[in-house]
Amino acid sequence: MNQSTLSTVLTTSDHLPVASQSKPSPQTYLDKRVTKSQRGTKRTRSQRARERLQTKEHLVGLARELHEGELADKLDRCHSRLSVLTCGRHIARIIPNFTCEFRLCPDCGRRRSRKLQTKYLPLMKAFMLHNKVTPVHLVLTQTHRKESRKESVARVRNSFTKLTRRSFWKQYFKGGTWSLESAKDKNGLHHTHLHIIGFRRKFFDIELLRDEWLAVTGDSHVLHLKPILDLAAGLQEVVKYVSKPLDIRRFGAADLKEFLGLKNMRMFGTFGEFRDFCKGFEPSDDDAMSELESLSRDLVEGCACPQCNAPLFDLRLSKSELPQFYEQIESSPPGKVRRSSH
Ligand SMILES: [Zn+2]
Ligand SMILES: [Zn+2]
Repeated sequence: MNQSTLSTVLTTSDHLPVASQSKPSPQTYLDKRVTKSQRGTKRTRSQRARERLQTKEHLVGLARELHEGELADKLDRCHSRLSVLTCGRHIARIIPNFTCEFRLCPDCGRRRSRKLQTKYLPLMKAFMLHNKVTPVHLVLTQTHRKESRKESVARVRNSFTKLTRRSFWKQYFKGGTWSLESAKDKNGLHHTHLHIIGFRRKFFDIELLRDEWLAVTGDSHVLHLKPILDLAAGLQEVVKYVSKPLDIRRFGAADLKEFLGLKNMRMFGTFGEFRDFCKGFEPSDDDAMSELESLSRDLVEGCACPQCNAPLFDLRLSKSELPQFYEQIESSPPGKVRRSSH
């Protein structure tokens, strides 16, 4: 990749059709966006696999447009052939032929966010127990301005750093994690916000936090806060932006070019006392594997499926066949094992 020669280009055009709607007040509009991004939609595994495939094809097309041949080839090869260890109804393990490790690759991003989950979940539990704090999911947004993605990201992160230095924040929060989500609004302006898992010492008035956020940003007071009842689900919700930090399917070539010009844009981090707490815990790759993953690592053809005991067989699929295979699994009645002809 020839990243150094690429300049950061700001695109202000947005070619997508905008749903016609009566224009709500700016605050309502932003609050809705926040809620919408938090809620997410529940899709089946086959739908998600199909979306990943489309996202990758889109990225490959953009890379070719930019004459980034090496990147296009890498993305095209990543997860293009898969060895799927399956009983016909469950998938015990998927081994890809190649992983590209490109930061916007949806397949590689998924693996990264799974790693973060397995690393941080036990740390969070230990931290909560040790400090008697409760987790909340906080979304901090900022006003949309005509600026580059880099500027937009720097602005929200700087504001957050300022916030964490204020006495109000220190009084109520003991640390946590942040991840970045970046989209564009209908005017093509960057809509960058932070998803924070904050470990709260005690309850506070949300209006006070709003005032604090306004004080550090100068013009933004829109935030959203909800308690996290299920830590694993809360963490999963936040780290999913590590695998999907940007609205890639709405990307144009100029957006990809801009992204390639941003080196080392961090998508996830820790802060406050939680950051120090994590420092002593750099897990090895083995530690970062979930129990199921380390269990399935030793599985080979002929072993019993961990979920139903039926014998596992090795199915070779191309990338476009994986969504179809998920569909077949989703539509097969429980108890019935289908053996593929592959
Ligand atoms: Zn990849
Ligand atoms: Zn099974």
